[in-house]
Amino acid sequence: MYRRDLLRWLTEEQDGALSELWLRANDVRRDSVGDEVHLRGLIEVSNICVRQCSYCGIRAGNAGLTRYRMTTDEVVECARAAASLGHGTVVLQGGEDPGLTPEWVLDVVARIKAELPLAVALSLGERSTPELTAWRRAGADRYLLRFETSNASLFARVHPARNDCAPRDRIAMLHELRDIGYEVGSGAMVGIPGQTLADVADDVSLFQDLDLDMIGIGPFIPHPATPLGSSLADPIEGQAPATDLMTYKVLALARICCPRANIPSTSALATLNPRDGRELGLMRGANVLMPNLTPLRYRVHYEIYPSKACIRETAQQCHACMQHRIRSIGRHIGRGAGSATQRSFGAGVPAPGRLPFAGSQHRHVPALKPGPPRRERSS
Ligand code: SAM
Repeated sequence: MYRRDLLRWLTEEQDGALSELWLRANDVRRDSVGDEVHLRGLIEVSNICVRQCSYCGIRAGNAGLTRYRMTTDEVVECARAAASLGHGTVVLQGGEDPGLTPEWVLDVVARIKAELPLAVALSLGERSTPELTAWRRAGADRYLLRFETSNASLFARVHPARNDCAPRDRIAMLHELRDIGYEVGSGAMVGIPGQTLADVADDVSLFQDLDLDMIGIGPFIPHPATPLGSSLADPIEGQAPATDLMTYKVLALARICCPRANIPSTSALATLNPRDGRELGLMRGANVLMPNLTPLRYRVHYEIYPSKACIRETAQQCHACMQHRIRSIGRHIGRGAGSATQRSFGAGVPAPGRLPFAGSQHRHVPALKPGPPRRERSS
């Protein structure tokens, strides 16, 4: 899709036109990844972080937060719960915590892989090449690292470099993860203070350029104990709104531009719209949900933003709720690991148009033609 078309959709306000976007995204989702919704059990292994990201509640500078790091046994126990609930994947996510040593992570990954039929995804921030390589060799299947925003100067502002080690370029790291053999996930926040709609259009283009296996998109939610906690009061011109509607648009465009990717309907979306945010995400391009398996005594402290969805439900309650939501829209839970389909555009992708995009580059994208609004179907 041309950048100007992405921008046009991002600024579109008419319900009728937006219905067409939702329908198209849902059609592409059904034709490319099917009606299954894959469950990835989220285990928030540590909220200790050395970074000072100005958007994130677990940043090192938030002295008001009770810090924790789970033990290996606790993580493996959560993974057992995931397997017994029928999840195909666990995601081990945490702050950039030096206490999560290379050996600790390697041991956890090896134990889960030896004992349970689960894919393991890691989301542990910017780590060194030897660490990433060792964890892949131990059996880790996927790595998730959001680029957060494609606007490099904004990213540098909101994600200051560590002063104790050389900066890592997240985009270069995503390529490196692919070379090491991981399935690669990235993503962005929508509505970071200082992020324009043009930046968001570029985010979608970057998803496509990186040919990602997984794409996580969530609204920015201000946390009062962070530097960006109150700056929404003074928006810049062209500021992208941090709303659920804008997030659905980005999600739908990501699906249309990246048909084969696994795309979650995120907790941040459910936090903005607890009633049916998850379902609307699933009906507008998403095919993954991430039930939270973190023990309750820790979960309340993984406060990247306030009022996070599913903060007080047990793993079983969270699973039952998600199962109900999936069935209510006529979809079903996927079996197995739910790996991304092959990287070349292939199986089931609807008739691609070969369109010039972003100047000289060319890539296949399904054409999205304006037309009379159709009615939104559930799957
Ligand atoms: N440390 C790892 C990293 O940076 O990739 C993983 C943990 S980090 C807390 C996970 C994600 O939380 C980030 O990629 C970011 O997009 C999201 N996040 C953090 N603060 C947020 C906020 N205030 N609103 C919405 N999402 C937020």
